[in-house]
Parts: sequence; structure tokens; C-alpha cells
Amino acid sequence: MARRALSGVEAVTRTARKISDTDLGQRVPIMARHEEIDRLAVTFNQMLDRIEKLVAGIREMGDNIAHDLKSPVARIRGMAEMSLAAGPYDNCEDDALAASTIEECDRLLEMINTMLMISKTDAGVSETHMQPVNIADVARAAKTLFVPLAEDGGLTLTCTAPDTVLVSGDLRLLQRAMANLVDNAIKYTPAPGTIEISVDHDKTNKEKVNISVKDSGIGIGADDLPNIFNRFFRCDQSRATNGSGLGLSLVQAVAQAHGGCVDVVSEPGRGSLFTLHLSGLPEIQTNPGD
Ligand code: ADP
Repeated sequence: MARRALSGVEAVTRTARKISDTDLGQRVPIMARHEEIDRLAVTFNQMLDRIEKLVAGIREMGDNIAHDLKSPVARIRGMAEMSLAAGPYDNCEDDALAASTIEECDRLLEMINTMLMISKTDAGVSETHMQPVNIADVARAAKTLFVPLAEDGGLTLTCTAPDTVLVSGDLRLLQRAMANLVDNAIKYTPAPGTIEISVDHDKTNKEKVNISVKDSGIGIGADDLPNIFNRFFRCDQSRATNGSGLGLSLVQAVAQAHGGCVDVVSEPGRGSLFTLHLSGLPEIQTNPGD
């Protein structure tokens, strides 16, 4: 009897653990033994139903607010542009005011678009956007794109990747995730510093692919590490740097939408290593005679 009762408790515990790690869709199996433990399981599942509804409601409200903010911000931007075009004014402060209004609107629009992109990605990648992607090419392209910015900041940016490493994915989202990681590495690494992008098959499981971005930057404290993938979270030390706290949330949403994950190892003052873990695709064998 004790064993049976404990197995029920075990099931509730297992479900609770899975929920904190993954999604809110898990439920405890009901054994219909009409025991205390089944009543606990039913109550636990009812509580989960309610939490899932509340969280979905909060997300929907966030999306609606983001969506509704887009048009007024775009209108304010348009008015500032008109006023800039109508110048130059005698008082050059008016020009500067209009220009910084446009800049702030652009920042807000970027934030709103990223919020909407995270929600869309959270809901899953559309099958129509899935295609074989050579993630090694994506990494090389990110290097080429960011080298000027890195060099301006006194940093050395390198990329090590085999010719071809295939994953099945949404190219645009994977490019964006890669760009966010490299952009962060540049933002949070003072000169002189190094940033290394690397792509390879996992050493222990060849079907897995690791895409990592390692920097010699400011690093992240142990207290902050569990929060950095949360929306709008920014470590205190980086508040002086431009950012919205949404970049890593998008990286995580992209990883999860591809059935993968992202992790980080970091030490304050020594740097950070972000790794995207994805499932690889077998390389398409081409016939040399083709
Ligand atoms: P942000 O727009 O602020 O960069 P992110 O979601 O990309 O937002 O990152 C969240 C926070 O995590 C950042 O504000 C920063 O404090 C920290 N962080 C991210 N990447 C790094 C990094 N490579 N080195 C140090 N801190 C980082």
C-alpha cells in the first residue's frame, strides 16, 4: 500500500518537475483508484488548467498591447519625419528634437516587433518555413556581417566551422538567433577582447549540432544567470549599454521551436560561452558523377 501511495506522489512530483523545465501542458496521469492520491492528482491538474489559462491570457494581453502600440508609434515617427523634412529651422534644437524622436520610435518599433516575433516563435515554427539549413554558412555570414563592428570596438572576431553542417530549420530565425548572440558578445566585451564563433557536431552524439559564441567579456554573475533568458531582464552592470532585454528570449524561443535548447557558462570578469544545441540533419550525399 505504501509503495502504491508513493508511486502516486512520485507521478505528481515528476509532472511538477517537467512543468518547471518545459511547458505548462503536462498533466498527472489519473489512475482511477479512488484514493486520496487520485484526488490530489485531479486537484493538481485543475490548478494547472487554471495557471495555463492565466499565463495564456497574460501572453495574449502582452501581444495585443504590442500590436496596438505599433500604429501610434509609427504615426509619431511619421510626424517627426514630416517636421524634419519641413526644416531646417532657425532653432537647430528643433531639428535635433525631431531626429531623436525618430530614433526613439525606431527603438520602440524594434522592441515591439521582437516581442511579436518571440510570441510567434513560441507558438512554433511553421512547417512551410522549415528547410535544410547549412548552419556553418549562417555562422560564417554572421562573422562577415559583424567583423566591422567588432573591429571598431577593438575586438577580434573569428569563426571555426566545417564546410557543411546541416540542420532543419527556419533560416531567418536561425540567422536572427546567431546575430543576437554575436551582437551581445560584442556589446559586453571591452577592448581588447576576443569573440569566437564555432559550429560542430556534438562529440558524444553525432546527430546533435552545437553552435557556440564565446567571448572574453564582462561575464554574468551566478545570481543573474537563471534570469537572462527572461523577457526584459537585463543585468545591472549592462544597463548603461543599449538593449531591450529581449535578445536572449528570442534566442531561447528559436532554439525551443527547433526542438533544441540554449545554455550558458559564464564567469564575471572572464567571459561567457553561449551554446545553441540543435538536431543535425544527415549530409546529403551528392554523386560525384552528377
Ligand atoms: P539586451 O538587449 O539587454 O542585450 P538580452 O536578452 O540579449 O538583452 O540579454 C539579457 C542580458 O544578459 C543583457 O542585458 C546582459 O546583462 C546579459 N548578457 C547577454 N549576453 C551577454 C554576454 N555575452 N556577456 C555578458 N552579459 C551578457
